[in-house]
Amino acid sequence: MKGEFDLIKRYFAQSTHQRNDVALGIGDDCALLQPPPDQQIATSIDTLVCGRHFLVDVDPTSLGHKALAVNLSDLAAMGAEPAWVMLSLTLPDADQGWRRWLQAFMAGFSALAQQYQMQLIGGDTTRGPLSITVQVQGFAPPDQTMRRGAAKVGDHIYVSGTLGDAGLALELQQQSQSHPQADILRKRLDLPIPRVELGLALRGIAHAAIDISDGLGADLGHICVASGVGAQLQATALPLSTAVAEQVSTHADWRLPLNAGDDYELLFTALPNQAAAIAQAASQSATPIKCIGEIQSGQELSLTLPDGRTLTDINQGYDHFNDV
Ligand code: ADP
Ligand code: MG
Repeated sequence: MKGEFDLIKRYFAQSTHQRNDVALGIGDDCALLQPPPDQQIATSIDTLVCGRHFLVDVDPTSLGHKALAVNLSDLAAMGAEPAWVMLSLTLPDADQGWRRWLQAFMAGFSALAQQYQMQLIGGDTTRGPLSITVQVQGFAPPDQTMRRGAAKVGDHIYVSGTLGDAGLALELQQQSQSHPQADILRKRLDLPIPRVELGLALRGIAHAAIDISDGLGADLGHICVASGVGAQLQATALPLSTAVAEQVSTHADWRLPLNAGDDYELLFTALPNQAAAIAQAASQSATPIKCIGEIQSGQELSLTLPDGRTLTDINQGYDHFNDV
């Protein structure tokens, strides 16, 4: 589009960490990259569409952070070390207003890239309805990645952080409701923290892992289907913020921690005898984790409630094609 080259020079070319495994970065037909020997490249891509994944008036700096954070979360779930990133942007215009937007977007994007010493190595810039696609690459030793299909019967199930905060923030926003913890919850929705350090610390310890983007039930469902197993969770063990715990007890409704998306916590399984190694990984990465249940034979996913009753079919998460 008109002004494309000026945008590239001004906002993308030198915007992130400069790595020495990048032989050629932005400015040619391709980037040239030198992967480390004996490592596999983990790569992932995600698109955020205006009106579906975010609203047009969302703070662009937060959006720049989130667009990269959701991809870093995928690298974390594989146990990969972040390295390179590509950015494809479709912008409605290249006028002053959109330049200001881009400046703010790149401030959020670059700060997170810098934190993980990632380099923006290329992308594409076109005109059209606002949409953002980010692709990341990272490195991992071939035998230490955590795949969805690797859960074993008898594994303990763990989750990082707390569940349902982003979902509660979204509910409050949609209903224009006030809440004493509104700011903290809003941060959980707009500025998710990718659990990269935990993912790295779990290499060679965890069996299966996934990042929770669609909700605990749905994402645990993905592990179970890929591994050919079932799972039983304990409701009393689910890590909840006071705000979400209050919602759950007021409405006796477990949907927030079970089915709300956008938390970007790590969900993983490991042998029961790895408990000490997992505690060590949690403290090494300064990430709270909690054991919430066990992998079982069969294919049922259930939650044992505090009163002893059991909730089944808990893997009904948010599906982009179910609601249209
Ligand atoms: P081509 O026409 O060969 O596709 P472009 O004109 O699209 O090249 O891009 C020129 C250079 O700028 C390329 O190195 C490309 O990777 C980079 N680039 C374009 N848009 C972006 C962007 N949004 N973020 C990062 N790099 C970009
Ligand atoms: Mg191009």
